[in-house]
Amino acid sequence: MQSVDIVIQGAGIAGLALTKMLQKTTMSIMTLDQRHTLDAAGAGILLQENAILALSHLDIDIHQITHAATISHINLGSVQHPDAMRLSTSGNARGMPRAGLLHELHKQINDSDLYWGTSIKCWRQCSDKTIELELDNNRRVRCRWLIAADGIHSRLRQDMQGKATAFRSTGQYCWRMLVDDVEHNNEAYEIHAGALRFGMIPTDSRQAYIYLVNADIDGVLAATQNWQHIKKSLQQGGKLFSYLADKIDSSTNILFHPLVDAPVYMPMESSTILIGDAAHPMTPNLGQGAAIALEDAVILGYLLQSHSNNPSNDFHKLRAKRTNKLMQSSFAAGAIAHWQTSWIQQAKILGLQLTPRRILKHKQRLFTDEFSQQLTAIKRDYLL
Ligand SMILES: Cc1cc2nc3c(=O)[nH]c(=O)nc-3n(C[C@H](O)[C@H](O)[C@H](O)COP(=O)(O)OP(=O)(O)OC[C@H]3O[C@@H](n4cnc5c(N)ncnc54)[C@H](O)[C@@H]3O)c2cc1C
Repeated sequence: MQSVDIVIQGAGIAGLALTKMLQKTTMSIMTLDQRHTLDAAGAGILLQENAILALSHLDIDIHQITHAATISHINLGSVQHPDAMRLSTSGNARGMPRAGLLHELHKQINDSDLYWGTSIKCWRQCSDKTIELELDNNRRVRCRWLIAADGIHSRLRQDMQGKATAFRSTGQYCWRMLVDDVEHNNEAYEIHAGALRFGMIPTDSRQAYIYLVNADIDGVLAATQNWQHIKKSLQQGGKLFSYLADKIDSSTNILFHPLVDAPVYMPMESSTILIGDAAHPMTPNLGQGAAIALEDAVILGYLLQSHSNNPSNDFHKLRAKRTNKLMQSSFAAGAIAHWQTSWIQQAKILGLQLTPRRILKHKQRLFTDEFSQQLTAIKRDYLL
């Protein structure tokens, strides 16, 4: 039986980032993914300040990433007032294709620790706190830590919970796509129009990520929507989204998801640790899922190489409150986005117009400050 220090199931955003963190140490790692290559399907992603801070701990300089767009402002509004609230990012946000982020992470990693087309078939915790695994190629491995980074439908989480995860539905359905040949001025938009919500995030100099959310449709109907339906719905989003709708045709790759989340799950006193969407699947309404997956990888990477006696408990103590808060805020942001009574909508737009920019900026900084404080605490309490 082969022995390694750490097995990571999942080479997505969280798994690749953790692999990169641990490759800086002397620990032996095995990272498995059921996909046969880094085919990196997906649309776009918004990386805000905390994601960029996390990437800097992975030695990734956001300025060096070629296929990414600087987001100068994030605008929130209605069809009539698309920029009711115009928030400057001070240059600290990027949009990029999801594939671009995965390739950037992969580029930083020594391939010898990556095992594509491989999953865990079964595993058991031994009395000496190690874990014995059998892979689906019948290979047997023993490790000290098993990390679940296998995404929203994590098999390992289900094994641990002993039942299927109870997802919370938002009643909202989302379509996402990348479109080329777009003039975007480096500004991102989210437009609220009752049951519909329209988003656009620049991902390269002439490319944008578009999303459409419908809160007033049942799941069966949502799943049958084709590109013509999506194009027609986008045309209801005003001038900008009619312009973007013109870029869509039968060749556009449109991804469809129900928007759901699930309670944060981080077992303490265990040799198995969950990170990213495996631990806390959250709705995408705050654009924080990938950022939090990167944060988890950085924090856990430091804890596993520190003198912590119990990295699993310490990870739980540091992360559970923050991830739960973001998950609940993200869910609430989605619900508020679809308030449908017209006077409430008008009051919301007025509220957005009147909110002092300084307060919003401060709130945004709080997300990053909290992560910075966790990094400082780790250096102070575990690494010195
Ligand atoms: C509609 C939508 C829009 C989003 N927009 C944003 C955004 O703008 N900004 C943002 O920060 N986040 C966004 N997110 C969230 C973000 O995509 C996720 O939070 C992020 O991908 C989580 O990373 P992860 O590594 O935990 O999981 P994933 O990226 O899903 O990776 C999981 C990996 O595990 C592998 N795997 C799964 N099961 C197994 C198995 N049994 N064996 C081996 N391997 C396995 C998969 O192949 C995959 O490679 C969005 C999500 C959605 C649904």
